[in-house]
Amino acid sequence: MRDFAAELEQRKQAGLYRSRRLVSGPQQPELTVGGRPLLSFCSNDYLGLANHPGNIDALRQALPDAGLGGAASHLICGHHDAHHRLEERLAAFTQRSSALFFSTGYMANMGVISALAGRGDTIFSDRLNHASIIDGCILSRATVKRYRHGDVSALEAMLAKTTGHKLVVTDGVFSMDGDVAPLRELATVCRAYDALLVVDDAHGIGVLGPEGRGSVVAQGLSEDDVPLVIGTLGKAVGTSGAFVAGPPVLTDYLVQKARTYIYTTAMPPALAAATCASLDLIERSNDRRAHLDRMIDRFRAGARQLGYQLMDSVTPIQPIMVGDNWAALALSEALEAQGLLVTAIRPPTVPEGEARLRVTLSAAHTLEDVDRLLAGLGSCRSFITAMDSPYPEQMA
Ligand SMILES: *Cc1c(COP(=O)(O)O)cnc(C)c1O
Repeated sequence: MRDFAAELEQRKQAGLYRSRRLVSGPQQPELTVGGRPLLSFCSNDYLGLANHPGNIDALRQALPDAGLGGAASHLICGHHDAHHRLEERLAAFTQRSSALFFSTGYMANMGVISALAGRGDTIFSDRLNHASIIDGCILSRATVKRYRHGDVSALEAMLAKTTGHKLVVTDGVFSMDGDVAPLRELATVCRAYDALLVVDDAHGIGVLGPEGRGSVVAQGLSEDDVPLVIGTLGKAVGTSGAFVAGPPVLTDYLVQKARTYIYTTAMPPALAAATCASLDLIERSNDRRAHLDRMIDRFRAGARQLGYQLMDSVTPIQPIMVGDNWAALALSEALEAQGLLVTAIRPPTVPEGEARLRVTLSAAHTLEDVDRLLAGLGSCRSFITAMDSPYPEQMA
């Protein structure tokens, strides 16, 4: 048998061992971790809706009517009118003609990609796409070509050399870098080479664009430009689940073919009702998004002044580039000692040599919270040994 214990030991030696922190109480910036209060800058609850009383109330009110369990898959007897109303709500919210509700974003990507491309087809995938996209590509059995991050010319050259059915898939906002995909340019080349464009907007929905309608609407694009958008509901929306939105011919096709939609139990219908309430709230949350933008500006200015290397991001994802795995862990631990929780992100989540601290901001943070983080980072400046080098030297 394979020596699993030795592999675990190797991971520890390489600074790649991962462990789970035990959180109690609701998700919010003031997080109780292992019984101790920490100010957290690492959740994806960008609008502070994970613990919003209005959404919790909507869930509570839906329970007596809808019951708790999903009980069956959508195609057997699990497709509840609460799910159906959410799909209509999601289509309207994203300005698309139809939507399909999935249990998680991971399952949506696996199901959508493997249903829409297969053996003999070609999928083009941005190098920094999320793990669930990578796995969806593998599951599809199509030929997979990865293009340089955000490089539309490289993609175009690859498309020009390929015949047959082509699918292009990209994150809307890249989850570990925070930058936004060049969707308009991608839409243009996809149209020119008859490729189906799929955008995973897990980190754009709720945050970017007018009323938080996501990165596709933010870039002035419609369903004609970007046929399919995938979104998750456990991040800015603050509940759970995911969706894909686009023309009925594609969502109908997915009902027939997406195995992660067909062969799984429907989500609790009351949760769908709570998600509708959250979407109402998101449309009325321009103040939350404006507050978020103010904090992003404040954080970027402050961290830069301290000599930290940031990435080219205007979103609430504001990674601090470190490089070395141990250095990233040490910086994270030093912050934690000051009551600040910012997790280190290491390979294989990010490329080798690009370990970082993934700072995320939420509308539930205050400007004072951001200042506390900056003060913490200020006192950890020694972790950056050469201020003019992009990466700190390796920790002893
Ligand atoms: C989080 C994430 C997913 C997975 O969504 P879940 O609903 O958490 O399973 C998919 N794609 C991207 C880009 C993500 O960041």
